[in-house]
Amino acid sequence: MTTAPVDVDSARRDYAALVGRGLHLDITRGKPAPRQLDLSAELLSLPNGAHTAEDGTDVRNYGGLEGLAELRRIFAPALQVPVEQLLAAGNSSLELMHDATVQAMLSKLPGAERRWADEPRVAFLCPVPGYDRHFALSARFGIELIQVPMTETGPDMDVVERLVAEDAGIKGIWCVPKYSNPTGVTYAEDTVRRLAAMTTAAPDFRIFWDNAYTVHHLTDAEPELADILALAAEHGNADRVFVFGSTSKITFAGAGVGFFGASQANLDWWSALVGKRTIGPDKVNQLRHALFLRDEDGVRALMRRHAEIIAPKFAAVDRIFSEELGGTGLASWTKPLGGYFVTLTVPEGTAKEVVRLAKEAGIALTPAGATHPHGEDPADATIRIAPTFPELAEVEEALRGVAVCVRLAAAERA
Ligand code: PMP
Repeated sequence: MTTAPVDVDSARRDYAALVGRGLHLDITRGKPAPRQLDLSAELLSLPNGAHTAEDGTDVRNYGGLEGLAELRRIFAPALQVPVEQLLAAGNSSLELMHDATVQAMLSKLPGAERRWADEPRVAFLCPVPGYDRHFALSARFGIELIQVPMTETGPDMDVVERLVAEDAGIKGIWCVPKYSNPTGVTYAEDTVRRLAAMTTAAPDFRIFWDNAYTVHHLTDAEPELADILALAAEHGNADRVFVFGSTSKITFAGAGVGFFGASQANLDWWSALVGKRTIGPDKVNQLRHALFLRDEDGVRALMRRHAEIIAPKFAAVDRIFSEELGGTGLASWTKPLGGYFVTLTVPEGTAKEVVRLAKEAGIALTPAGATHPHGEDPADATIRIAPTFPELAEVEEALRGVAVCVRLAAAERA
């Protein structure tokens, strides 16, 4: 980025005026707004006395580790997992990713020589910027985090292929393949194919394919994502992929349903282990979700209504940054077609200062560095913007404030 000089005095005046307004705004986490949660209000009165699944199962009772077929059928196409290879589980996909990590630590994965706990070293590739909770989860188990740059088409595959081919300690990669958190990138077909086909030194390499935003379109342009499970099988790597997803940002974040999809060998491994942890998932919640969403079209219609609420907030991010920072060379930002986030890139060495200045002015931003392993962005240039939760007017006000902070941080550094 080439940067035009900023007048320090005027940047300081603008910032003093901003602080003087005594704002209390929060654009930290990608949570649905209350109005989005209201779209699923009917769930609160479902299953309305019903307690029988389509196969006759009494959902009030124990059992059915694989989850209800009617719900798995609704989500199988969006998650690109054949319904018989898709499990519907608890209320969160993150806990499934956690489970997958712990189980791989403690029990040999299909294809593995050893449990990960017995490996001299376990490392995961982390495309950056990425999702902080992925990185924190791996770090918590002592997994080494290796950064890989994100590009417009997904992780830099030249780097990924080189690293996984030579290093048997690299056991996995974190991927948010559709409307990635936080860049909004959807992986190109070639990226997905290369991930599915590449040669890995580790025989038990796994792609943690977190398809959290598969139906979360903001526009009618709905980029296609290639089918990783099918491609991996085609290339003789059927066991390479763990697919995760959830209804967290479709119905209720916190009271939705998480999904896990994989090859049959992986599912056998998984079910034998998870069967020690639970006798079955909350099928009452699964039934009310199936009754509420009905089918794929039901999900699609609901996601349109979500987009009606949040697309204007994303449009505001682009409009305000364009008005306030466009042409200054001080910042660039992503214009996602879906998902929950915008990545704002500021001059190197200023992201932390922007976040600090914003905080002092009453605007809470996601900590700078959160998009990188161990919370450390080596360039100190990336800020994740999460515009969904606040009202539109608050988003606008917060972002105008952020722009003031970007200008001041740049001016003071110059
Ligand atoms: N994956 C990604 C990429 C996310 O952004 C989020 C929520 N911010 C999650 C997973 C969490 O999903 P869940 O609620 O299903 O645990």
